[in-house]
Amino acid sequence: MSPIPDGQPKKFDYLVIGAGSGGIASARRAASYGARVVVIERGPDRDPKTGARRGSGLGGTCVNVGCVPKKLFFTAGVHMEAMHTAKGYGLDVGTPPKFDWEGFKARRDAYIANLNGIYLRNMQNSKVEFVEGYASFVDAKTVEVTGHGRFTADNILIAAGGKPIHPPVPGGELAKTSDDFFDLEHQPRTAVVVGAGYVAVELAFIMHELGTDTTLVCRGEKVLRHGFDPMVQDVLNSEMERQGISMRRKTELGSIKLAEDGTYEVTFKDGSMLTGIDVVLYAAGRRPILTGMCLENAGVELSDRGFITVDEYERTNVPGIHALGDVTTTGYELAPVAIAAGRRLSDRLYGGEPRARLEYDRIPTVVFSHPPIGTVGLTEPDALEQYGEASVKVYKSSFKPMHYAMCEPDLKLPMAMKLVCVGAEEKVVGLHIIGIGADEMLQGFAVAVKMGATKTDFDHCVALHPTAAEELVTMNGWGQRDGKPYLPGTLRID
Ligand SMILES: Cc1cc2nc3c(=O)[nH]c(=O)nc-3n(C[C@H](O)[C@H](O)[C@H](O)COP(=O)(O)OP(=O)(O)OC[C@H]3O[C@@H](n4cnc5c(N)ncnc54)[C@H](O)[C@@H]3O)c2cc1C
Repeated sequence: MSPIPDGQPKKFDYLVIGAGSGGIASARRAASYGARVVVIERGPDRDPKTGARRGSGLGGTCVNVGCVPKKLFFTAGVHMEAMHTAKGYGLDVGTPPKFDWEGFKARRDAYIANLNGIYLRNMQNSKVEFVEGYASFVDAKTVEVTGHGRFTADNILIAAGGKPIHPPVPGGELAKTSDDFFDLEHQPRTAVVVGAGYVAVELAFIMHELGTDTTLVCRGEKVLRHGFDPMVQDVLNSEMERQGISMRRKTELGSIKLAEDGTYEVTFKDGSMLTGIDVVLYAAGRRPILTGMCLENAGVELSDRGFITVDEYERTNVPGIHALGDVTTTGYELAPVAIAAGRRLSDRLYGGEPRARLEYDRIPTVVFSHPPIGTVGLTEPDALEQYGEASVKVYKSSFKPMHYAMCEPDLKLPMAMKLVCVGAEEKVVGLHIIGIGADEMLQGFAVAVKMGATKTDFDHCVALHPTAAEELVTMNGWGQRDGKPYLPGTLRID
């Protein structure tokens, strides 16, 4: 696109900043209703000094430095596990498997480059104009884009996502972030992962499974302390240790120093130290980076922590400026949340549906740990706090899945499941799974939980045998309430 002279901004109905999950979804949906839409994306530009990524590029975090490359790594780990468990089933896979990091990375990068092209073509097919450059506000209706001049629109969406941060400790700039992790050309022999959230957990498992000697450092007693049921936390935390990830709990990163041999010396606040570390991966926080966007020119308010404050309709304090996804105060940093919010927003702005909005409630989430986790709704402690002890009934089960029946004992990963039910009707308000297949199992159960299914509804669904998932519809007390059979007609139909 040729530059537009100052003072003559190019006019659109809808201007979207950020070609990530939320931005593209919202833009394409708006265009499907006939709106004239432009998407501005800074692209995968890099810091000229450090080479670090500053923008994500087409598809945003998820496609380039998030869900997609992470899932490909996770899948490599799944194949690695299968090579070990195969032996129990009579399959001779020969010498111990070895991961080819360089070959994997080349194929992964090609896969993502192809996805970038698909995203571009999808926008073109939807008649969304795409402009690559950095967007900053001139005023509440006008945006300046580097190399492309000014643009104006009746509605503007900020879908600029977040970025990982570096640790605020001496030598913190030597740490890698999750963005940098996907750029690593060679497999680290030794790695220290700092963090307790899902990104730290997933990347620690990936490296460990693929053969890196991995240490995880967390401030608290456990990882995944927020938003996960204690059952899931306990199983996962003991599995990390059992599988051989070295856990350093209740300590914090103190400093990082480059040693003469090119490895790192890492000191912790408890006074301990690790040497000979190839990669220190800091995965303990993400923030929106909005400094260059000149939001003050538009008057957009931020929260104390630097996120854009929005209401339940993704509205900022400035009429006509909306925001969604990781850049906002909504608190869900998940790609499908940004996508759903973006589509609903366009349904409301251009689709003639004034009530359309994403319900931030019972949003399912998966952690690609080893074994994986699937969770939706309230944890047991949250349900107790919200509904009181007398109203909450919990069903749970833990077992070794049949998948590992013929494997060596140390290869058998555990499985645990929990239903958190409330009220006389035992409505399922929380469902938590850790174990093989939990990631694929959850989606259908999340529909049931979202629909308000009760334990009786679960009991009335005939099991699929032999599967691990069947345990969720056959849990203790199956077909009974307080030791008595259900009366006919107790199946809720509405
Ligand atoms: C390691 C990792 C793993 C993850 N795994 C999962 C997962 O398994 N499942 C899941 O659901 N979620 C996952 N996520 C989270 C998911 O990637 C994000 O929640 C999602 O991408 C957020 O979408 P978004 O639209 O808010 O922003 P983004 O996808 O981050 O897109 C924002 C875009 O805006 C661009 N931009 C920023 N500022 C400007 C500007 N001023 N001008 C122009 N362009 C700009 C950026 O370059 C970027 O491309 C993961 C995240 C990480 C980091």
